[in-house]
Amino acid sequence: MKYIFVTGGVVSSLGKGLAAASIGALLEHRGLKTLMQKFDPYLNVDPGTMSPYQHGEVYVLDDGAETDLDLGHYERFTSGVMSRLNNLTSGQVFDAVIKKERRGDYLGKTVQFIPHVTDEIKARLHLVTDTNPDVDVLITEIGGTVGDMEGLLFIEALRQFALEVGKDNVCFIHVTLLPFIKAAGEVKTKPTQQSVAKLRELGIQPDIIICRTEADLDEDNRKKIAMFCNVEKKNVVAFRDVAHTIYECPLDLRRDKIDRLVVDKIGLGHTPSPALDDWEHFVRRVIHPKHKVTIAVAGKYIELQDAYKSIYESLIHAGAHHDTKVNIIRVEAEAVEDHGAKAVIGDVDGILVPGGFGDRGIEGKILAAQYARENNIPYFGICLGMQIATIEFARNVCKLRGANSTEFDKNTPFPVICLQEEQRGVADMGATMRLGSCESVLFAGTRASDLYCGADRIHERHRHRYEFNSDFQDKLQECGLVVSSVSAKEGLVEIVELPNHPFFLGAQFHPEFQSKPNHPHPLFAGFVKAALERAQAQ
Ligand code: GLN
Repeated sequence: MKYIFVTGGVVSSLGKGLAAASIGALLEHRGLKTLMQKFDPYLNVDPGTMSPYQHGEVYVLDDGAETDLDLGHYERFTSGVMSRLNNLTSGQVFDAVIKKERRGDYLGKTVQFIPHVTDEIKARLHLVTDTNPDVDVLITEIGGTVGDMEGLLFIEALRQFALEVGKDNVCFIHVTLLPFIKAAGEVKTKPTQQSVAKLRELGIQPDIIICRTEADLDEDNRKKIAMFCNVEKKNVVAFRDVAHTIYECPLDLRRDKIDRLVVDKIGLGHTPSPALDDWEHFVRRVIHPKHKVTIAVAGKYIELQDAYKSIYESLIHAGAHHDTKVNIIRVEAEAVEDHGAKAVIGDVDGILVPGGFGDRGIEGKILAAQYARENNIPYFGICLGMQIATIEFARNVCKLRGANSTEFDKNTPFPVICLQEEQRGVADMGATMRLGSCESVLFAGTRASDLYCGADRIHERHRHRYEFNSDFQDKLQECGLVVSSVSAKEGLVEIVELPNHPFFLGAQFHPEFQSKPNHPHPLFAGFVKAALERAQAQ
């Protein structure tokens, strides 16, 4: 087993996750089996409870782990299967250490940062490699910036780990910023020098330095960085701002042959250069599409770049599949409440309502769904968006006035969406989340079944508490709503759709967590196709 550790310097948001994922993609294209993981130094046990303002999207894995959004990049860029072991936070580390201390596992010793906390971090590295014995290379990204107090124990653990497994089996990569100072007209290397000096002070000499830069990296600066950071000049790699899409990142890093540098360092130099035809083909289709559609995403955290990351990426994948640029309009659901659907989303080719919690903007989303249904505009509801479609249909088609989800109105006369416990009349509302991959059954003859190419079982990831209330299923179906999928175990409604509409579909799960560049998710592909048909008919 070989190890790559990716640290970051100078500032956050450098694209360290994308750099790590790109290296994973390149190594995979060299025929190596890679696995990726993220260490996050914050104290939350996982990001599941963090606000999107703090953290962007919570990315959900098959096993139900709520993880950092970088794991989304990893899954989209590589084929490695992630599990909860692939995201370790300080919260988990300390939780484990304190539990062990309470159990008496430390046999009366003083429990200390070193060795007990660092041992816990190293144990996780061993656990991941032991549970994935067929993997050739484990790539671990360390969140935060070198020099942060909260990251120190992770860095120290890595230093020790490299000694223990042999330095030839480990490659340290440091991603850093080369700011361009406009007034001086110059790229500056000093922050990089200082950040690497900090890392070396902590006992780690990076093998490769990835320089994030707006422009190019000239020979003089490469030389300077090499000299002051104690690395070979060829190991100073440029990571430029990509012009069009994040999927250009592996191609950009390939220009300085980063994969070659990495395999040479860890003794896998015999592997063939990567054939990137499939990747280049995908990027070409993203950059030079034939067609164009406009899709409104009507949500609550719309101003945040990262809150619906996987959805935006899935739209790009589906667009490329149809040779189509998806122009995404981010719509604040409350604006639909204030100005009406026609004014805000009147001229789009498709409307997507993403997942969400809490009642802000709910009525705006319901108006958006109604507008889509009544005007034959393709509608795709994801999780909350599916619940919204159900509420709208109940209110406006079945005439169940005041229909709602009990999440937003405890006393609604028609709780078409409610907690499972409420359906069963259980008093104790634990309101546990349905998390992770669930199997569901697809019904033949439905649009969903067609999109999944006639499959009768599917596995999709969930993250929600509330469910379609089966007490209303007959009523809604009588009025024309089609239930096209139910969960295999409990019979919970998973997909609803309308037959006499170009595309009106809601999924209780999150398809966006299983879309990949050259394998768009079938529901996204179907939605974008319907939007394209509308755009072309206009
Ligand atoms: N708030 C809804 C629920 O908990 C939807 C959740 C979501 O969209 N992820 O069921």
